[in-house]
Amino acid sequence: MNDSIETLLKQHQLRRTPMRLEVLRILMEGGNEAIAHPELERRLPNADRITLYRTLKAFEEKGLVHQVVDSGNAAKYALCRDHCTEHQHHDDHAHFHCQDCGKTVCLDTVSTSTFQVPTGFKVSQTHLVLEGTCSNCG
Ligand SMILES: [Zn+2]
Ligand SMILES: [Zn+2]
Ligand SMILES: [Zn+2]
Repeated sequence: MNDSIETLLKQHQLRRTPMRLEVLRILMEGGNEAIAHPELERRLPNADRITLYRTLKAFEEKGLVHQVVDSGNAAKYALCRDHCTEHQHHDDHAHFHCQDCGKTVCLDTVSTSTFQVPTGFKVSQTHLVLEGTCSNCG
């Protein structure tokens, strides 16, 4: 897994730092699950908060992670899959929030790029969250 983490960092022109490796490892272990910022803090007890914050910002800017907005209070982050690049995210998929276990996952098969908006409207971001129970809880 370390290999793929380093490849990812290289692809997105990010220097490898211990913090970046750690955060990416956690996100990759989560698969398509979005991890909340406080959860990352909990799993990296020795991490400096500001550095963690900057790491997530850098990942987001470089197209490595996208923010997920669900009904919880905390920002969540998930790995990008759709060949996102710097300042160019293409995460046009919905997310699913499980009301039982609280997990939020990327639904790669549910596209949000097909929404029709009235003439003259321009969509720059879509936050579509489906709620219910996931396959583990249902
Ligand atoms: Zn993205
Ligand atoms: Zn669940
Ligand atoms: Zn996602």
